[in-house]
Amino acid sequence: MSNILAFAETRLGKMRRAALEAVTAARQVADQTGGQVHAVLAGGPGVGEHAAALGAHGADVVLVLEHDGFTHYNPEALAATLAARLGDGYRAAFFAASAQGHDLVARTAAAMGLPYASDVTDFAVTADSCSVKHPGFTNKVIQSFSLTATPAIISLRTGAVLPKESAKAGAVEAITSAIDPASVRVKVTATEASGGAKLDLGEAPVIVSGGRGLKEAGNFKLVEDLAAAFGNAAVGATRAVTDDGWRPHSDQIGQTGRLVNPDLYIACGISGAIQHLAGMRTSKTIVAINKDREAPIFKVADYGIVGDALEILPVLTAAVRQAKGS
Ligand SMILES: Cc1cc2nc3c(=O)[nH]c(=O)nc-3n(C[C@H](O)[C@H](O)[C@H](O)COP(=O)(O)OP(=O)(O)OC[C@H]3O[C@@H](n4cnc5c(N)ncnc54)[C@H](O)[C@@H]3O)c2cc1C
Repeated sequence: MSNILAFAETRLGKMRRAALEAVTAARQVADQTGGQVHAVLAGGPGVGEHAAALGAHGADVVLVLEHDGFTHYNPEALAATLAARLGDGYRAAFFAASAQGHDLVARTAAAMGLPYASDVTDFAVTADSCSVKHPGFTNKVIQSFSLTATPAIISLRTGAVLPKESAKAGAVEAITSAIDPASVRVKVTATEASGGAKLDLGEAPVIVSGGRGLKEAGNFKLVEDLAAAFGNAAVGATRAVTDDGWRPHSDQIGQTGRLVNPDLYIACGISGAIQHLAGMRTSKTIVAINKDREAPIFKVADYGIVGDALEILPVLTAAVRQAKGS
């Protein structure tokens, strides 16, 4: 019985939700194929404190690589370490399809001379077969692939798997880097968080997003208020809005912005251009508010409100506050 590996992504010493998604996916597979879940947790001094959360989400063993050379993302040393570890006979390995994950999974697979499946939204891994689904052509089609190589290396789209508690031993085992972390050619010297304490768009279960229909930058306050009422929501925007400087580019969702997959996406004054849909149409529930009942956003929306977002947003915010008792 081969084991399953999950890479637990961290940034600035914090573990990302994607780490729990990867370990949950690995647990699902191990529960069917047998074998253990090994989570690799790498970072600077202190990163090992996250091992307990990985154990709570199904890791039998947490392989902790704690070293100054991993305080910032160290692509070469991490890929070399993961490739060496995966050479020990794992059945599958799960990474996050995040900015860091895209880089790391490609380097790891290349170091092993193996294929990998990226940005996967669904998977079925058995002892001798692996099939995955991957949205293609800006999310217009779902492509199905088989991965015949072992280990099956997969990066998971954020939100494709919901973190699920399934307490296992989470036995901590210290590991070392396969190469000297200081000997690398690519060195990340600083990592800056873009939005202070803001929830990252890739991690937020709820996204409230605004478009040109909000008329002016100041009206984004209404979007922010609704996001704050939820408490676990991030604010997104269309390119029309970021190009006009109403919101920072980091808020842009779409083909040339972030790909998101939240439980709930609320689109306010957004037409639903194909380039915007490319970034959010896999959201689990989509609510659209638009004055124009023919707006394309309603074709992908689960719930539609035809009306003026500037009037509807305060009403929704009050309703959410009331429902949450705040
Ligand atoms: C190569 C390329 C890449 C692109 N990448 C992206 C991308 O990554 N992300 C992205 O978003 N766009 C992208 N775009 C731009 C995209 O084509 C659209 O122009 C953009 O998404 C439109 O933004 P919008 O919906 O805010 O504005 P609009 O298309 O102008 O729509 C505004 C909507 O608001 C509605 N409205 C007006 N007033 C109100 C009101 N008071 N209440 C409610 N509704 C109201 C209108 O009916 C309309 O539907 C890209 C374009 C190109 C060519």
